Amino acid sequence: MDASALAALMVELGQPAWRGSQLAEAIYRQRVADLSEITTLPKPLRGKLAGEGWEVGRPQIAQVFRSVDGTERYLIQCGSPNGAGAETVETVSMPEGDDGEAGDGSDLVGQVGTDSSEKTWQRATICVSSQIGCAVNCQFCLTAKLGLQRNLSAGEIAGQVVAVLDRHGVEVGRDRLNLVFMGMGEPFLNYTSFMGAVRLLVREVGLSPQRMTVSTSGIVPGIERFAQEPAELRPKLAISLNAPNDLIREGLMPINRKWDIESVMDAVRQVKLRPRERVTFEYVLLSGVTDQPAHAREVARLVRRTGLPVKVNLIAWNPGPGIAYSMPPPEAIEAFRATLAGEGVATYLRRPRGRDIYAACGQLKRTVES
Ligand code: SAH
Ligand code: SF4
Repeated sequence: MDASALAALMVELGQPAWRGSQLAEAIYRQRVADLSEITTLPKPLRGKLAGEGWEVGRPQIAQVFRSVDGTERYLIQCGSPNGAGAETVETVSMPEGDDGEAGDGSDLVGQVGTDSSEKTWQRATICVSSQIGCAVNCQFCLTAKLGLQRNLSAGEIAGQVVAVLDRHGVEVGRDRLNLVFMGMGEPFLNYTSFMGAVRLLVREVGLSPQRMTVSTSGIVPGIERFAQEPAELRPKLAISLNAPNDLIREGLMPINRKWDIESVMDAVRQVKLRPRERVTFEYVLLSGVTDQPAHAREVARLVRRTGLPVKVNLIAWNPGPGIAYSMPPPEAIEAFRATLAGEGVATYLRRPRGRDIYAACGQLKRTVES
């Protein structure tokens, strides 16, 4: 619930509307974890709310996997822990995960840090899930293997962020924090909840949308809707391009048969970019399939044709059980990067994070690998 929904609730209970702002302040800014701790509300009102079954809470972190590189992968409990609908969703945090200039995971190859002390949280990236599983069925992605289990609510999406902020004692405003909606699921197939979460995180929690990036596999109606969002709420946009042309893309991403590259580009052009904002194209390098220098030249032509300020984030494919692709050798990655950059395209290589704990791009699957 946002401040206005909380205000409406207060009015319903015969209270002044500004009590709603007090509640929002306590829940989202001070991040109190229990109704009884909201001391700005009179005790009888707290009692009344509790009596009516209202709760203040957030998803609980049920399990933590820690990578040697400091990345943490969480299984976060959604729904009541024992009741029906009890499920976990995956969220990842990457301390200093943002050496790139944009906070969208773009990253020049750098040293892998092992320091996870509190100060690393002065800079971190949290990767958030929008659905449990995913229906889009990209052939190279482990999350696809789950199918779509269910959509997450706005509260469950924003709650992942708050749970991680709490775990690390992050102070909004002091610590530099980036969010990427690049976890499990396709955000634009759960649009209302996804944007509802963004609104909560911007207006109530106090995070900046310019430090948020949403990635989509190319859901055209979603991109068109996104283009209508006001600048003060709109995260940056990343498109999972992943192939140099429709033929190859169709083989990797069945969604391309519904919305081909050109229709995605047309939709992207409707987004009114902020000054200095660029659209990111993610590109997964699959050995022998998408990693050839000729592909790089094709990608360069493709992104130039958009006429937009763009950059390309290369992601070397991360392996997963039961997926029959292979990682490109380092020389192929470097040759691709150099070719694309040589064509004048801003190119970044995303550093793989948390591969050893299945936390890297495309590896999120609700399992408990040891
Ligand atoms: N569903 C959204 C957001 C989550 S996926 C989307 O597809 O854009 C985030 C990124 O991880 C996407 O760019 C996707 O192409 C990439 N990805 C998926 N599986 C991967 C894998 N096994 N290795 C590397 N990147 C992968
Ligand atoms: Fe879904 Fe994204 Fe994985 Fe494709 S890459 S299956 S859209 S999570």
